[in-house]
Amino acid sequence: MNAGISTRITSTPAICSATSDAPALALPIYSVTPFTLLDFPGRTACIVWFSGCNMRCGYCHNPQIVKSKGRGNIGQVMDFLRKRTGLLDGVVLSGGEASVYPSLPDFIMKIRDFGYAVKLDTNGLRPDIIRDFLEQGFLDYVALDYKAPPGKFKKVTGVDKYKYFSETLRMLCAQENVPFEIRTTVHTGLMNEQDVTDIIHDLDRLRYRGSYYVQNFRADNDRPTLGLLPPQARILKLDKLPKPHNFSLHFRNF
Ligand code: SF4
Repeated sequence: MNAGISTRITSTPAICSATSDAPALALPIYSVTPFTLLDFPGRTACIVWFSGCNMRCGYCHNPQIVKSKGRGNIGQVMDFLRKRTGLLDGVVLSGGEASVYPSLPDFIMKIRDFGYAVKLDTNGLRPDIIRDFLEQGFLDYVALDYKAPPGKFKKVTGVDKYKYFSETLRMLCAQENVPFEIRTTVHTGLMNEQDVTDIIHDLDRLRYRGSYYVQNFRADNDRPTLGLLPPQARILKLDKLPKPHNFSLHFRNF
């Protein structure tokens, strides 16, 4: 998840104790944001937050999610989603990183059966899963975090796995069936103008034609980041960034 920017986790749903689906899905639910108009383009949606992540971004604003084993109940989430059919039309799968869980396809199939469109927020480290989801028509929208260029990827994410992210990026750019957006969160203690310039040039090389969001890290004094990062000493200089040739560039929280 693009921590520090995305919708703040607000609550677990008001859930009854009935779990009529009682699905045997091993999914570590952290919480549910019951309603959002901001996180799934064109949809009235809820967000299901999954615990656990395969990255360790220093600026992550949700260390409690990353380190959690889950505290919610998948059956209760299914009951919540069943009751919201007709009121909501989309479900955002966020976290943490939802794509790492083997039971996620079963969950997606169940919520698609309810009639929901599905958006996946992902850091892109599981191209095998994303490929499978695309082939099976599981996804209606993807938000992919482009954390950092290759030379900074480990420093920003804590993992030396740019090649997996890159495979996901190239796969998404090579298909036209599922719309997607790309996002980079910038903390200038980790990333600079040249790093974002490198990303813009990479996206142009791939003939990316969607929207690219450069998002300013947002400090939250009452919530330390995963890497206990200090506040930014400066803000990214947006006028130093090149104009993309093929896609639209947007700035958030600057
Ligand atoms: S560690 Fe990184 S990828 Fe994982 S939830 Fe936090 S910001 Fe997102």
